[in-house]
Amino acid sequence: MKIIGLIGGMSWESTAIYYELLNKRVNQVLGGFHSAKCILTSVDFAEIEKLQHKNDWESLTDLMVEASVQLENAGADLIILCTNTMHLCSEEMINSTSIPFLHIAKATSEAIVLKNLKKVALLGTKFTMEKDFYKNTLNDHRIEVMIPNAMDREIVHNIIYKELVLGIIRKESKNELIRIIKNLELDGAEGVILGCTELPLLIKQEDVNISTFDTTKIHAESAVDMALKNVQIKS
Ligand code: GLU
Repeated sequence: MKIIGLIGGMSWESTAIYYELLNKRVNQVLGGFHSAKCILTSVDFAEIEKLQHKNDWESLTDLMVEASVQLENAGADLIILCTNTMHLCSEEMINSTSIPFLHIAKATSEAIVLKNLKKVALLGTKFTMEKDFYKNTLNDHRIEVMIPNAMDREIVHNIIYKELVLGIIRKESKNELIRIIKNLELDGAEGVILGCTELPLLIKQEDVNISTFDTTKIHAESAVDMALKNVQIKS
């Protein structure tokens, strides 16, 4: 089994879920006492959040590159960055190490293609919804991307930064997200990407009519598939 390197802490609320998902998936596949081999480097989200809202992507890239190199030096065989937003720095991260980097938007695109959907809505931080880095990967897979209107984008962004990353779960916010997803469905969305690793804390498949793509789960499970690629499963 390969060693999965995780860059976490963005926020730790979702990194904890990654850890659980990785172990559950490995155990589901290998059975017995098996669990995931992994190494976690975890940042202080206060520093990250401050730089994000100052739009200082250069310093953020430096921090992400530093974390990637740390994981490679510690012996990780592959890297997952446990946040959608910070994939804005992925190009430099990929160039900074010689181990594979499993891109969250690429894994999500593959899951959407498997379901044969052509037009999906993207929910996440304003950085993820408004900048091109995430949408480009989806477009490369011939997936058309819709985002909420400006007012609703602000609502989703605030729910993430003022509540979910702090572990605050509110029924009112859940209802707001359901309303936003419903509107996107009425505008033609065939599915919705929960493109922030904390969004699945609030929205579950049963809450909406269209297919949801839980990026945390998709990413964690793809990482396990990669880690177990050449592992012989004993019956
Ligand atoms: N975890 C979130 C994401 O997937 C937001 C926190 C962050 O900015 O990294 O985008």
